[in-house]
Amino acid sequence: MSPKAAKKAAPTPPRSIQVGDEVEAKCGKCKDITTHLVLAKIGWKPTRVECKVCSATHEFRSPQAAKRKTATTRSAPTLPPEEHWQAAMKHAKGNARAYDREESYVIGSRIRHPSFGEGVVTDLCSTTVCEVAFESGIKKLLMATRRTAHAG
Ligand SMILES: [Zn+2]
Repeated sequence: MSPKAAKKAAPTPPRSIQVGDEVEAKCGKCKDITTHLVLAKIGWKPTRVECKVCSATHEFRSPQAAKRKTATTRSAPTLPPEEHWQAAMKHAKGNARAYDREESYVIGSRIRHPSFGEGVVTDLCSTTVCEVAFESGIKKLLMATRRTAHAG
């Protein structure tokens, strides 16, 4: 009679993680994949971990998921001033008018400025300030308050 070693009843996944184990995880503080101590887990998945580098505790983020996230960081689509100006000029209406702060402008108005050249109103900051795209960049220009129709 040769007694066999006790067999494990439940089939366990190859790398079962226990509380207190060390796992690789993404640390938001270190902004890197570091070794973490498992503080809590659900099933085989660690839920709460402690960074061994900075001692911060946070949710478990798998290194794979972290990699995918950093790959899709989008940069703000900022156009260089001359391209912004060219795009704005395409949408400009009518002929360029000499800039006059006594005039009022709307988005799309073409302006000819004595020092900045030709530009297009791209935004209205207030009733008296308009934002104009010139080849050299965006300038804020004063303008007259648009006359509203008065009754009587
Ligand atoms: Zn850390």
